[in-house]
Amino acid sequence: MGPKKAGLFQKLHIRTLRDALLTYPRDYEDRTKITPISGVTAEDKYCVRAVVGTAPAFRRIRRGLDLTKLTVFDETGTLNITYFNNKYAAATLREGQEYLFCGRVTGTGRARTMVSPAADPVPASGESPGRIVPIYPLSSGISQRDMLHVTEAALAAVAGDWPDPLPQLLRAKYRLIDSADALAAIHRPKTQQDVEDARRRMIFEELFLLCCGLQQLKERRRADNGIPFGADGLRAFLSALPFAPTGAQRRAIDEIAADCASGRPMNRLLQGDVGSGKTLVAAALCALAAANGYQAAFMAPTEILAAQHAETLVKMLAPLNITVTLLTGSMGAAQKRQALSRIESGQAQVVIGTHALIQQSVTFHRLGAVIADEQHRFGVAQRAALAAKGQTPHTLVMSATPIPRTLALIMYGDLDVSVLDELPPGRTPIETYAVGEHMRARITKFIDKQIAEGGQAYVVCPLVEEGETNLKSAEQHARDLQKALPHRRVAVLHGRMKNADKDQTMRDFAAGAYDILVATTVIEVGVDVPNANLMVVEDADRFGLSQLHQLRGRVGRGTRQSYCVFFGADKGQPARERLKILCQTADGFEIARSDLALRGPGDFFGRRQHGLPALHVADLAGDLTLMQHAREEAEALLAEDPALAAYPLLRDRVEHMFAASEDEAFN
Ligand code: ADP
Ligand code: MG
Repeated sequence: MGPKKAGLFQKLHIRTLRDALLTYPRDYEDRTKITPISGVTAEDKYCVRAVVGTAPAFRRIRRGLDLTKLTVFDETGTLNITYFNNKYAAATLREGQEYLFCGRVTGTGRARTMVSPAADPVPASGESPGRIVPIYPLSSGISQRDMLHVTEAALAAVAGDWPDPLPQLLRAKYRLIDSADALAAIHRPKTQQDVEDARRRMIFEELFLLCCGLQQLKERRRADNGIPFGADGLRAFLSALPFAPTGAQRRAIDEIAADCASGRPMNRLLQGDVGSGKTLVAAALCALAAANGYQAAFMAPTEILAAQHAETLVKMLAPLNITVTLLTGSMGAAQKRQALSRIESGQAQVVIGTHALIQQSVTFHRLGAVIADEQHRFGVAQRAALAAKGQTPHTLVMSATPIPRTLALIMYGDLDVSVLDELPPGRTPIETYAVGEHMRARITKFIDKQIAEGGQAYVVCPLVEEGETNLKSAEQHARDLQKALPHRRVAVLHGRMKNADKDQTMRDFAAGAYDILVATTVIEVGVDVPNANLMVVEDADRFGLSQLHQLRGRVGRGTRQSYCVFFGADKGQPARERLKILCQTADGFEIARSDLALRGPGDFFGRRQHGLPALHVADLAGDLTLMQHAREEAEALLAEDPALAAYPLLRDRVEHMFAASEDEAFN
């Protein structure tokens, strides 16, 4: 490997040639379809096989803008070609020589011009040069050409030395191609069918490895001894509650109590739509732990949420004389020291915090239960790190992202599942509207009216990435809104603010010191301000449906009629269709199903919010049946051979996959 390539590998964080091959193309450009020049009739992308008719003519239009022009011809006509600021590409083209030109054509008739096409010389043999060109995801400073070099080198290096981890029987049963062939086809396909076959094979393999790993994790934990909790504390907890738990909450609490009494460590997922009351169930586990003389640790993804949970739990647990302590990264040194010593002495029975909880400096006296809220924000490894602070404590993870069963069985393959499928009584449905820009003035008035009636409003803006000029940042939007409603108190909240400032703003909003909170999705998870009754989401087409549903769940928590307004309905038919789904249903599972049908499961894996090992085929996954087969086969194989003793390569690859995920979680 030359020094240039070595540098590239470093830039790409590629440690081995194998890693290089696991950077899959995100798309392909089909350059096998060749159009005669006479067939170039629309403004579209084409590939033409043509001879250079006039030598490239170079011209400097002005400083910073060069233009190179030439014409090419085939038996059916001639076509103009221009290159901007790419003297060198054009300079390699030889008059009289035949090339395959692929690029976008603008203009019509005699003015038809192909702009900055890729040009491949047609070999002397006359063999067609057309091919399917992989398009790689790029990080800064890396070009497609670099990626082609890297993968070329990697393919050459591992040729003939890429053993297949999948059992032969499975390959035959599902007609999966060999893994070496699949990799070669992923990076250098000859036909579209090659791409399809290769993807199918790699998806199966990856999900199969994932399922094997999760299943093994589950089995290993099952063999551990758990701390048996008596259920006595539960009665006191339930009778001290200000309201009766819903039937679903009762069921979940009973399942948890049964797990905790079993002598095996609990590993349970609590899935419940936004607003279904998961915090109460978590509190029940805390009460159970405390009554049995153990500590509980409750980890939340943001400081705001941790603080809020602490308040909620104090209300529920203080009547039972259970002490609650908060630990977050932004606490002052003295305060933190005090919290740490209370945790270590066991004085703190319930500890609520952010990632700060898994830091080295935190030692528990007797940790018996751990809870992770909004679990998709944490990695498997982070959960494990928290659990490692006790001796096989009972673990509850909570998620408000409802996903269909096939996916859930894969993504939560290591957990048992409880579902909260019932909302607490007395909620009025949220009225939801999808609107376009022409409604702007009316919505601003509507915000004003809700505030006049005593309500408060959230306005959520998408994260604006560098270079995106068509979107308004939260700050900009807050300024505009303040100008439009000068008599209202507008606050802004975004991810780049200091944690303490975020926290203060959120508290002030909750206390009614602001009327409008303009925010990025930092408020997506969990915040509870019952007086807020209006949620406005700007550029809603930029969010996933489940995420919008989650945002909507921030309102409708009090007695006031609540409203949700999604801007973006004027951004084309698909956007309108998607937003309409939210107007029609408030059922998170239903919404997730629609989201899945519209975008395919790849997106669920692709967002990397699930805390699973990184999946390379994630974005490609589309076939639920294939997923189901991968899971069933993993289960069947492990039932027969739990340690994968007969499949050493498979075993290594599973280990590698999960080890890599741990590296990432701690970075
Ligand atoms: P989740 O975390 O599932 O989105 P929360 O735990 O934040 O939901 O609960 C949402 C709201 O419902 C809170 O204001 C909570 O006090 C209230 N709540 C929870 N359970 C009940 C219940 N059984 N009856 C009435 N209100 C409840
Ligand atoms: Mg919650």
